[in-house]
Amino acid sequence: MTTASSMFTDALEELREKLKTLVPPDAKISKIEFEGPFVVLYSLKPEALIEDGNIVRELARKLQKRIVIRSDSKVRKEQEEAIEIIKQIVPEDAQITTIHFDETLGEVIIEARKPGLVIGKNGANLHEISKQTGWRPNVMRTPPIESQIISSIRKILKENVNQRKFSLIQIGKRIHRPKMVEDNSRWVRITGLGGCGEVGRSALLLETPESRVLVDIGVNVGAHAPNNIFPHLDSPEFDLENLDAVVITHAHLDHSGFLPYLFKYGYRGPVYATDATLTLMTLLQRDYIQVAQAEGKLAPYSYNDIKEAVLHTIPRNYNEVTDLSNDIKLTFTPAGHILGSSICHFHIGEGTYNVAITGDFKHSQSRLLEPANTKFARLETLVMESTYGAPNDVMPPRQDSERQIVRIINATLKRGGKVLIPTLAVGRAQELLLIIEQYLRKKKLVEAPVYIDGMIWEATAIHTCYPELLSKSIRDRILSNGDNPFLSEYFINVEGRAARDEIIEGGPAVILATSGMLTGGASVQYFYKLCSDPKNSICFVSYQAEGTLGRRIAQGTREIRIYDEGKVKLLKIKMDVHTIEGFSGHSDRRELIEYVRRVQPQPERVVIVHGNYQKSLSLASALKKNFRSMSVVVPRNLETIRLN
Ligand SMILES: [Zn+2]
Repeated sequence: MTTASSMFTDALEELREKLKTLVPPDAKISKIEFEGPFVVLYSLKPEALIEDGNIVRELARKLQKRIVIRSDSKVRKEQEEAIEIIKQIVPEDAQITTIHFDETLGEVIIEARKPGLVIGKNGANLHEISKQTGWRPNVMRTPPIESQIISSIRKILKENVNQRKFSLIQIGKRIHRPKMVEDNSRWVRITGLGGCGEVGRSALLLETPESRVLVDIGVNVGAHAPNNIFPHLDSPEFDLENLDAVVITHAHLDHSGFLPYLFKYGYRGPVYATDATLTLMTLLQRDYIQVAQAEGKLAPYSYNDIKEAVLHTIPRNYNEVTDLSNDIKLTFTPAGHILGSSICHFHIGEGTYNVAITGDFKHSQSRLLEPANTKFARLETLVMESTYGAPNDVMPPRQDSERQIVRIINATLKRGGKVLIPTLAVGRAQELLLIIEQYLRKKKLVEAPVYIDGMIWEATAIHTCYPELLSKSIRDRILSNGDNPFLSEYFINVEGRAARDEIIEGGPAVILATSGMLTGGASVQYFYKLCSDPKNSICFVSYQAEGTLGRRIAQGTREIRIYDEGKVKLLKIKMDVHTIEGFSGHSDRRELIEYVRRVQPQPERVVIVHGNYQKSLSLASALKKNFRSMSVVVPRNLETIRLN
């Protein structure tokens, strides 16, 4: 009898033999390994492969695999000497901050303020470095604003190279296993484990006869009943042992917040996300534990489980095709929602079936990001969100909202008041900072300090590390002119409670603080201190959920009772209260319908998730009216839909 593991080895052996016939002998291949979805070739003469880029491209095309070339350890230069060579090749302007070596992977990691200059035109410097030192360069950006999360992730990866390599090789074996089923008898189905008919705890299971992929694994941050907080991992369809991959569309906790829990219960398979998503979700997951502890609750996982998730995440860029298993290929494309957010395209079998899952997306341009991708090579089913799917979910044009907030800020500052903007840390806050910076630069905003509290500062620092993912105009400003709007001299990081008190006592200012719905965090502390002065203003810029303080204030409550130093205190709300729509990272009803019209090719079926059930149904009937031949489905949690 053949055991599963010997079957894997046979399939890998086959691939190895095939590779040997395809690689020119003068490249002197000494070893071939399969690290997750990558095929790694170790060579005693890597320059033969590096100089003629066509050989590698041709190999990748023939095998339909990602190829990585590494030099054999025998041909790598001493580290001291390699550093000297790198310094000769890379211009000083690149501003290298650190160089370190990874013996296991044969990589030299170069961190620099201007990574583009390290890379050189068409990668010319990288080729030179590989050729002259024998080390494979891996270039990283040194964030212009120091980010604790980025340093921490880089440290985790650096300190656990061997463990990471070991798990990548295990993952590689699983991906390259032989197929059990002929392509023409393939079925595809999806099951909603969470986030169907609701916003929160998103989790969809995509299954074929060969593989099982979980797309998103979120928590419901607003829910109180334990049954509604986490996705239905207790469903019989879900089997941790047989999961091929987890794919995360974007970092918000309702899509990534429960990921570390899988690692707590022993999952050791791969997680795929963009690098920006990995960074942001690590920030948000750690904050999730902190918030739980501050509220005296038990967090569902530990910092160590988050670390395991980091070690098992394989970051992929937009438009790179990745094998998740022997019959599913994944491609991330931009979703326009937050930094790193993706519409995930799954190509199943040999073109048997194609599914795109939007996650949260925005179909129009924002200051921060380009709009969501609409073009796919093939597409049969589109799974889309419907947060703003109801007929009255129509947002004002972004320009009107910008003018409105500028008017409020100016009026408040002129009368000597302060403007409090409670906001989500990731996405909305950076969009607002870009607006404020723009109007300040054009002298259309009264000059005043803009205080950025707590996690918003860290999230902004992360944004400065990924300029290539930002909207074209911001990207060009940063990369071509070295002019980074997030580094504006008006923006001030607030560290600690003492600094907060000074701001409250101080002069006119704009304050951005979390949470966005006044459910806790710095925004509530500012609110208590600022609300009784009629000179001040509060601007709500995001959705205020039922039952939150933000919702009550936005709807007109003018008196609240709070506990202060053991006593009940009555606060009268005398500050101006404004709600500004139009900065959302989601598409509104019109844009959702427009997206389905624009998406190419037209899907046969649309599956509507991530919305209040009535809103999802309403969007479904609008789509049926507009696109008569399309099948539109609105699943509930725990329902399975067969796609072909
Ligand atoms: Zn989101």
